[in-house]
Amino acid sequence: MTSTARPFLNRRLAEFGTTIFAEMSALAVRTGSINLGQGFPDTDGPEEVREAAVRALRDGRGNQYPPGPGVPELRTAIAAHQARRYGLAVDPDTEVLVTAGATEAIAATLLALLEPGDEVVALEPYYDSYAACIAMAGATRVPVTLRPDPEQARFRLDLDELRDAVTDRTRLLLVNTPHNPTGTVLTREELTAIAELAVERDLLVVTDEVYEHLVFDEAEHVPLATLPGMRERTVTIGSAGKTFSFTGWKVGWVTATPGLVTAVRSAKQFLTYVSSGPFQYAVAEALALPDTYFDAFRADMLAKRDLLTAGLAEAGFSVYRPAGTYFVTTDIRPLGESDGFAFCRALPERAGVVAIPNAVFYDHREAGAPFVRFAFCKRTSVLEEAVTRLKALAG
Ligand SMILES: *Cc1c(COP(=O)(O)O)cnc(C)c1O
Repeated sequence: MTSTARPFLNRRLAEFGTTIFAEMSALAVRTGSINLGQGFPDTDGPEEVREAAVRALRDGRGNQYPPGPGVPELRTAIAAHQARRYGLAVDPDTEVLVTAGATEAIAATLLALLEPGDEVVALEPYYDSYAACIAMAGATRVPVTLRPDPEQARFRLDLDELRDAVTDRTRLLLVNTPHNPTGTVLTREELTAIAELAVERDLLVVTDEVYEHLVFDEAEHVPLATLPGMRERTVTIGSAGKTFSFTGWKVGWVTATPGLVTAVRSAKQFLTYVSSGPFQYAVAEALALPDTYFDAFRADMLAKRDLLTAGLAEAGFSVYRPAGTYFVTTDIRPLGESDGFAFCRALPERAGVVAIPNAVFYDHREAGAPFVRFAFCKRTSVLEEAVTRLKALAG
């Protein structure tokens, strides 16, 4: 064995050996802190959806390998959802692929579409699996940094930077809106500029829209696939985890043209082949819930956002109020701090709360250094207690 001379993990993945989430969650347990680090709800989704899963299990639907593309009921429900929400017509038989969460959708898409040496332009800070999947595909990531705009209280895309990042080796643009961790929802103007660039440079676009139903205030979720020239070059990724508060079920999906779906399925069949059989039937029912469900879910998260952002501001943070997702990014410099890592490692002892340093989502670590992310997808009583504890910082 040569484990000391040469670690086991290969060079492509060496930089992804450990994640901050494990360290911070362990710290939360050890110190009895409130964990606002990892983004999962602390209450389950709708009772009728849970019952639908139980029914499927009992009726023997999905207990054996479901069809490779996903069960027809779910593919039909996904197509109906895209039509009802966005006027997007997708064929449930040839243009929908069910995956093991958005995580597998991202992996399969990148493994299917990229050649070694291709460049992927992605918005930084980014969801941690993007960098790892680009690396597994042997491709190179080219980050375009979302810049904080304190006046507008949001992170914004610099369209010139985006244009400059595209080279002859660029194969695809990887977009995420609503955006984790900044809470930015890309505007129609920004998305139109992305679409024009993709058409001009003949690029594929992969768009992670798992927070499509968590959009607040005046913000509007515009699926990239609805913009001119985009339907044929866009892979859209969705997930039931965030929308229905069943993150453990791992039901996600891809919608795209038949050619793109076929390519993604070629990679997907050798990752999990299929997954989540009975849950697929339950998610089909969930997607057909009336608008009242989606409106109430959004209203609940909006109230939680307002509770946590107000508390963070009172505790002395500078707050980038999110227009979408269930995360809020803060700037710790008003607290006299500048290193998010050190701040997050000390926060459990200082205040009994766990958060995540945004720098872990950056290649340009220094650009993310003063930012810290909190999740607000928690019970109101938990958020209230967190806010009380954080006020100790204002001292
Ligand atoms: C949570 C999340 C995912 C993963 O979704 P799953 O369906 O749980 O695999 C993908 N992208 C973003 C931006 C997320 O926040």
